[in-house]
Amino acid sequence: MSDNETYDVCLVGDGSGGKGAAVSAARDGAKTLLIEAPLSLGGTSTWAGVNNYEPAAGATGLPQELYERLAEHPYAESIQRRTASYHPDRPWGIYDRSDHTDYRLTLNRRCGTALTFEPKTTSDATIDSVKEAGVELRPSTRFIQVQTSDKRVQSIDIQGNDFDGRIQAGVFIDSTADIYLARAAGRESAIGVESRNAYDEPIAPEQPESVLNNASLCYRIAPLPPEESLQIDLPPDGIDLDELRPVTSIRTYANGDRNMNPLHLMTGQEAFELGYRAYEESEKRIKAHWHPLQTRYGFERWKMTWVSPMLGIRDTHRLAGEHVLTEHDVETPLEQTENKEVVTFANHGLDFHDSRSSRQLVNGPYGIHFRCLLPREYGNLLVACRGASLSSIGASTCRLSRTMIVLGQAVGTTAALWGDDVKAHDASRLRETFKAGGSE
Ligand SMILES: Cc1cc2nc3c(=O)[nH]c(=O)nc-3n(C[C@H](O)[C@H](O)[C@H](O)COP(=O)(O)OP(=O)(O)OC[C@H]3O[C@@H](n4cnc5c(N)ncnc54)[C@H](O)[C@@H]3O)c2cc1C
Repeated sequence: MSDNETYDVCLVGDGSGGKGAAVSAARDGAKTLLIEAPLSLGGTSTWAGVNNYEPAAGATGLPQELYERLAEHPYAESIQRRTASYHPDRPWGIYDRSDHTDYRLTLNRRCGTALTFEPKTTSDATIDSVKEAGVELRPSTRFIQVQTSDKRVQSIDIQGNDFDGRIQAGVFIDSTADIYLARAAGRESAIGVESRNAYDEPIAPEQPESVLNNASLCYRIAPLPPEESLQIDLPPDGIDLDELRPVTSIRTYANGDRNMNPLHLMTGQEAFELGYRAYEESEKRIKAHWHPLQTRYGFERWKMTWVSPMLGIRDTHRLAGEHVLTEHDVETPLEQTENKEVVTFANHGLDFHDSRSSRQLVNGPYGIHFRCLLPREYGNLLVACRGASLSSIGASTCRLSRTMIVLGQAVGTTAALWGDDVKAHDASRLRETFKAGGSE
């Protein structure tokens, strides 16, 4: 079928930012369309096996609501604490289920309490909340191209199983992570590490660097039932096991299975250069990654039961928007921030996953400006995903899933309240709307 349709708000991309934006826009009264890519709702935090929310300040409101929905299902989520750290003799760190059951503990980095969830139940719970809000979902559909004029998006072309056509909307929201829509509309973007001069960031290198955070293909393991005999999978040929570092971040699902996040599987540049072939290559490498864990590092009686269908990409294109969140913003504690445009806050450490040295702590919660979500000198387009306007240093702390849901909330509410006149938004009114909806 080919068609032509009109909405108040059209969202492309159904990950963390997209679901936050879609639910908020629809709840605030906008006729909202969400274009859902082939892998069902959830994006990276579900289908790339990133089934974990690290401790994060500011994750109240919609993230908390999602947690409460999950808590209604048996074995859908587990709150947990780190029980073992990496060690030269044991290349993994692990979080185990904890008796603490208060979601609020996961908002405090000092408690070190995280949350792990089942991907399918999370996707289903998200679909329920999106539909209840009145969002129209367009399943298995991709954004293909954009039509622009007068510094505005006029319409986009989408292609799916049962729909192939053009969508018009008052406001368009790019939640594709890699900002496909914003880039197709000619908006300025950046990739890699900026030089110190770019934003006067003290820890930035003298020269720009083509460095991207590592990519991971996460997988799941389960204990072997006592009656099942031990099965050691052989690693594929052609991979140097001594070269591949089996460093793994391990989280525990509510049913006791483990979520394995191989931290040094593939560099971000390699994943970028391999493009769609990166998944196939990573699949080979995880078999090699799993082999030493199983034979040398304590997982003899476990088996691999699931490989996430999406490669976990931490870092690609970022918008160069009206405000760029830099080291200066991140280092300014929230209470010292005078900027009236702040719509939420975060406090994750600077984490480059060994692509360069990291620092686990920032000075405390810092504010995120609404203008990080606005392309420069442009009309009806907003960005709600990790491709928002963040320097590579800003992105290294800010891109957490729950922070993206909350930024999505800011974008969706803005689109509904101010329509295509997004520049007229009022951040203090946005904050009031959030508070009324249960956010901090
Ligand atoms: C390995 C790894 C570990 C991480 N660990 C943690 C962690 O422990 N805790 C934490 O909070 N965060 C973690 N993060 C970060 C966090 O998961 C991501 O930054 C966050 O999920 C990104 O959300 P997003 O909405 O920006 O993008 P995504 O969730 O990736 O969503 C983008 C969506 O857009 C869709 N899309 C793309 N192109 C199109 C198109 N043309 N048409 C239609 N749809 C399209 C995609 O299919 C996808 O569903 C990790 C990330 C990775 C990769």
